[in-house]
Amino acid sequence: MAQHTTSSPAGSSSSTASGAPLVEVFDTTLRDGLQVEGVSATVDDKLRIAEQLDVLGVHYIEGGWPGANPKDIEFFRRAATELRLTSSTMVAFGSTRRPRGRVDDDVTLRNLLEAGTSAVCIVAKSWDYHVLEALQTTLDEGEAMIADSVRFLAGEGRRVLVDMEHFFDGYQRNPEFSLRALEAAVVHGATHVVLCDTNGGSLPHEVERIVAEVHRHVGADVVIGIHCHDDTGCAVANSMAAVRSGARHVQGTLNGLGERTGNCNLTTVIPNLQLKLGLRCLPEGRLEHLTSVSNHVAEVLNRPLNPQAPYVGASAFAHKAGLHVSAIARAKDAYEHVDPELVGNGTRFVVSEMAGRATIQMKADELGLPMDGPAVNQVIDDLKRLEHEGYHFEAADASLELLMRRATGWEQSFFRVESMRVITDELPNGEFTTEATVKVWVGDQRRVHTAEGNGPVNAIDTALRAALGGGFGQLGRVHLTDYKVRILDGATATGAVTRVLIDFTNGERSWTTIGVSTNIIEASWRALEDGLVYGLLHAP
Ligand SMILES: [Zn+2]
Repeated sequence: MAQHTTSSPAGSSSSTASGAPLVEVFDTTLRDGLQVEGVSATVDDKLRIAEQLDVLGVHYIEGGWPGANPKDIEFFRRAATELRLTSSTMVAFGSTRRPRGRVDDDVTLRNLLEAGTSAVCIVAKSWDYHVLEALQTTLDEGEAMIADSVRFLAGEGRRVLVDMEHFFDGYQRNPEFSLRALEAAVVHGATHVVLCDTNGGSLPHEVERIVAEVHRHVGADVVIGIHCHDDTGCAVANSMAAVRSGARHVQGTLNGLGERTGNCNLTTVIPNLQLKLGLRCLPEGRLEHLTSVSNHVAEVLNRPLNPQAPYVGASAFAHKAGLHVSAIARAKDAYEHVDPELVGNGTRFVVSEMAGRATIQMKADELGLPMDGPAVNQVIDDLKRLEHEGYHFEAADASLELLMRRATGWEQSFFRVESMRVITDELPNGEFTTEATVKVWVGDQRRVHTAEGNGPVNAIDTALRAALGGGFGQLGRVHLTDYKVRILDGATATGAVTRVLIDFTNGERSWTTIGVSTNIIEASWRALEDGLVYGLLHAP
């Protein structure tokens, strides 16, 4: 089989400085993950998630399918200029050329190239049944579609990964064709062949056997990847089985997002591979970001994280108080399968919120905030109290920073709010109008402004900015980019409480603030005020 040099960050058999063999992580949250019902992400949401994935340090971020929808074309255009990825390689997704078509006038392949990524991933049919029935073409043409497309993309200088769709189902029925499809990809320049359990029906012992056979067949010429869906509840187990048989590239999504029952959950499989099998998946020091990244993505997509999620769930290391409490505190390792701090989570006793002093101190150092012991204690107390009320600071870094500053005795000196009022009227013609009045002090000057808006948040935002007026020119660059509301149920807080998250940007940086109240206007106002204060504090 032809040899191809690969510039993949892992190579096919490389190992890290620490000596642990490397398994590449390929994240497809932004493509396969967004197939989940009830989730729709804006381009901004996708950019924020990509940033988080880079923080986590995954090898590849599959950004979407350019050409499948205009949003993904815009995503790749903006990603190229707005994201500064330091660890991850952006990948555009597409498919092989059309049956009986030509590569040089194929729209899908052209869109892939125009996405401008150094790596591309194309899906190829590797189950004979699909070639004959879905594509209505011959097996020879099915093979040629893969060969031509891979050769074309590699010839354009792209690193080419090939998702072998329905590989396991195909291999069980006609292994000869599945291997022909795979060889077509390898011979013509694919650096990775990714074996996909597209219907998600495979079991670990089958995956382990088939991947071992494929591994013997292709040798070390190419990286074998694994892409599993969770229809039997075995996506993580199947991915682990594949790695045990020689796969060195694992595809999945954060929090297991994906259509039907979801994809292989990266927040589970990464720590399994790294902590249990001793394989290096992420750069040094990144695994401890896992819990915060997982939470951040859950918030961005407004899709709450399962508290019982392994490793990252709020309950993953939570212990019911009682007889065992002192024993757990004395010998945690007797009650926990791994040290929760390795994945950025923490031991939690259900009676109270446990926020680690070390975490607070680390955050303070990151923000350049000198913080002594009493201030750290103050932050921990405030966090406990506020999170109990329904705040969730994982997703609202700007509010967390302001809370920490206040714990050191800092107070914002930009303005002082005397009062705020908002009124919504229904007019006789059925239209609604909203008007807000804000009274603020700037220095010793009292300013009162009234403004209309298309809703209460818009009206108070406009009135507050008008009241601040001149002298705060920096606010002209601060915009709200998203506003999310969640009603918290009685399980997480007493009574029905509204949590508001607002995203802001000044064109150079983005930040998120949070407000919580039984009153949605108050919750919005808290988040809005924090957002503007943060914008003034960090004016470019
Ligand atoms: Zn998939």
